[in-house]
Amino acid sequence: MPSSLHCIDCAQQYPIQRVIYACEACGGLLDVRHDIGARRSSLTADTFDSRLGALDAPYNSGVWRFKELVYPDIDDNSIVSRMEGNTNLYELPRVAAFAGVDTLFLKHEGENPTGSFKDRGMTTGVTQARILGMERVACASTGNTSASMASYAARAGMQGIIFLQNQQIALGKLAQGIAFGATCLQINADFDRNMELVRLVSEKLGIYLLNSINPFRLEGQKSIMFEALQQLRWRTPDWIVVPGGNLGNSSAFGKGLLEMLEAGLIDRLPRLAIIQAEGANPLYRHFSSGFGQFEPVKAETIASAIKIGNPVNLQKAIRALEWTSGVVEEVSDQQIMDAKAVIDGVGIGCEPASACSVAGARKLVERGIIKRGDTVLGVLTGHILKDPEATIDYHADQLPALSPESANKMRQVDDDFDEIVSVLSERAP
Ligand SMILES: *Cc1c(COP(=O)(O)O)cnc(C)c1O
Ligand SMILES: [Zn+2]
Repeated sequence: MPSSLHCIDCAQQYPIQRVIYACEACGGLLDVRHDIGARRSSLTADTFDSRLGALDAPYNSGVWRFKELVYPDIDDNSIVSRMEGNTNLYELPRVAAFAGVDTLFLKHEGENPTGSFKDRGMTTGVTQARILGMERVACASTGNTSASMASYAARAGMQGIIFLQNQQIALGKLAQGIAFGATCLQINADFDRNMELVRLVSEKLGIYLLNSINPFRLEGQKSIMFEALQQLRWRTPDWIVVPGGNLGNSSAFGKGLLEMLEAGLIDRLPRLAIIQAEGANPLYRHFSSGFGQFEPVKAETIASAIKIGNPVNLQKAIRALEWTSGVVEEVSDQQIMDAKAVIDGVGIGCEPASACSVAGARKLVERGIIKRGDTVLGVLTGHILKDPEATIDYHADQLPALSPESANKMRQVDDDFDEIVSVLSERAP
């Protein structure tokens, strides 16, 4: 069977060449489906392990190494890649101790070419745009999606168009969008409103939409799970912990894990823990109320990448929680920034939203949901340089309503040999 688009609510199918982001019959979200059963014999750990360290395209990419699971039937020449993925999996005892577990792995998706996991979804999204013959691509973004889309659009010779909010865009992300030559619209609206606007404008002008409502994005993002499990020698951890904003990543993880199980690459599923900021917690509220009536929220958090009140992939995330007996937790900005300081302090570093993984794991351990002996794999979604202001303000104790637990204060010292020597001779506090 060729790959096709399936509505997750009413099972209506559409050919993969259709430019469509929601079911025409019921408005439901769409999945890209590949015939995994028919390929099962070639989808072995040996196949994927033999491609590790490949020098040539497409297998030199940590997304396209899993091509049969990501987008099987396409010509390799149509792929738009920056050799994304291939990110490190760190085992970090000091961070594990902070979280309260014996074994913690952090997969650093900030090590992707533009500094966030969004590159994994953008290589598949922009590849699909090229297959469809699109000349313009667009997204609404809190920053990382736009940075990534701008880069891949430039690689493909397409015009990238980004809808940004006019406040709280992390500087690193804004700089990338501008530098990579995208058309940048700064709009006096929050992310959720920009998301509505970009959908309307894209439809009107025939621009290809590359937010994570586009199911081809999620096909690339699944590969975070493929690669992480490969790095664990295909042994399933007990928990996968991931920050949740628009819930594209959590949705992609659920789908990818289920497909790995179907392909026989793993023999059981880990549990998914989705972590939201307290000020941007619509999924947490929905989960805690037993999935009653869903209420969007007005989002506010220092973790700007997850400052989203009405996540587009809600239904897919709920499905992923069901598949994996998953849980949702919320953490405060204080907990996020203190966890970030611990991740930064071991020399690894991440942007604020990413620290939800560790702050959330810690809270779930405190609540007795994650056990000390469980193996936990957290995802660090973005690079430390994305949001330098948040980091500097934290250490300088300049964040209103926050008191840093482990601030590394800068010292002001005169041009004076004796003073420098005396400062460096003080006992560390
Ligand atoms: C996009 C992003 C998130 C949120 O991911 P979703 O798929 O929208 O839930 C978290 N952290 C960072 C750094 C991101 O760029
Ligand atoms: Zn439908």
